[in-house]
Amino acid sequence: MGRAKQSDAIEIGGQHIQAGQRASLELEIARLYTHSPLNVSVEVLHGKLNGPVLLICAAIHGDELNGIEVVRQVMAKIDPKKLHGTLIAIPVVNVFGFIHKSRYLPDRRDLNRSFPGSRARINSGKNGVSVL
Ligand SMILES: [Zn+2]
Repeated sequence: MGRAKQSDAIEIGGQHIQAGQRASLELEIARLYTHSPLNVSVEVLHGKLNGPVLLICAAIHGDELNGIEVVRQVMAKIDPKKLHGTLIAIPVVNVFGFIHKSRYLPDRRDLNRSFPGSRARINSGKNGVSVL
C-alpha cells in the first residue's frame, strides 16, 4: 500500500473543518410554527489522512434512544489525528420526534420510510433530503 495523502479541509453547512480536527455543528433544518429555528447537531471527525466518508446516525425514530449513546461512545473513542477518512455523526436525526418522545414526525409520517427523500415533497420527504 502506498502512503495515504493528507486530507484537505472539508466544508459542511458553511463551516470548514481542517484535517485532523473534530467539529460540532448545528445545522438549521426547519422552522417551528413560531419561526424558531430547529437545528440538528452534527459531529464531524475529519481524519488527518485521506479515506472514505462514513455517516452514522441514530434516533430516526425519536423515541428510540439507545443509538444516541452508541454514537456518542464511537465518536469519543476515535482520534481524528489517527483517522483515515471522515466520520460524520448525527446523533438525533428526528429532532421533532425526540423533543416530543415520539417515533414520528409532526405529520405522523415515519422518517425511516422517507429516504432518500425528494426535493419536491414536504415535511418528512424534505427532511430526508436535507439531512442525508
Ligand atoms: Zn427505529
